Amino acid sequence: VGLQIAIDGPASAGKSTVAKQVAKQLHYTYCDTGAMYRALTLAALRAKVNLTDESAVLAILKTLQIQFKPGSPQQRVFIGEQEVTQAIRQPEVTNNVSTVAALAGVRRQLVRQQQQIAQQGSIVMDGRDIGTAVLPQAQVKIFLVASVAERARRRYQENVHKGIDTPLATLQKEIEIRDQKDSTRKVSPLTQAKDAVRVDTTALSIDQVVAKIIAITNE
Ligand code: C5P
Repeated sequence: VGLQIAIDGPASAGKSTVAKQVAKQLHYTYCDTGAMYRALTLAALRAKVNLTDESAVLAILKTLQIQFKPGSPQQRVFIGEQEVTQAIRQPEVTNNVSTVAALAGVRRQLVRQQQQIAQQGSIVMDGRDIGTAVLPQAQVKIFLVASVAERARRRYQENVHKGIDTPLATLQKEIEIRDQKDSTRKVSPLTQAKDAVRVDTTALSIDQVVAKIIAITNE
């Protein structure tokens, strides 16, 4: 097993952008665990199953081949041969993913897959429970936070590029609801690992956050 960097934090704190950059600079593998929960949510929505029906969702997960391929600015995500990179970021998926991620059996399966990915070499993995549950032995643990107003503003900017025009206040509300759901679920809720370094990105640029994490890694 190589070096492991776990990056956790609430929604839209910049985790995937930063994690991907850190992985690139260090030549590590990058794994976006949120994309796995999102791909499953997309498949479950398309199959029109009740998202709280654990056995129905697990039946879908069983048939799901989630694959990552390098891409810019985002890593590309596939279900089998079908690219879902954009589809998994749709508001409908974003607003339902916490329900699917709260299912204990789903977490058991996806955490196991994530741990297998981490066996392949040095890795930067981002999510909600990486430092606490997926890679509790990670040498570097970062908990990325930013004010909710700043996170809503960043999500708004991203949406502008995609042609989505949800009002800022709605985005902030959606972020708050998702954080609330992720922090209060029964199985490995979103929480800072005791040995994680908290990094507040509210007033920092992406490059500054990346540099900070690399400095922490090199300590
Ligand atoms: O990071 P991202 O916003 O893509 O994550 C989407 C959702 O997936 C989170 O809101 C959370 O419900 C779930 N998730 C999780 N555990 C992870 C990663 C994501 O529960 N390790």
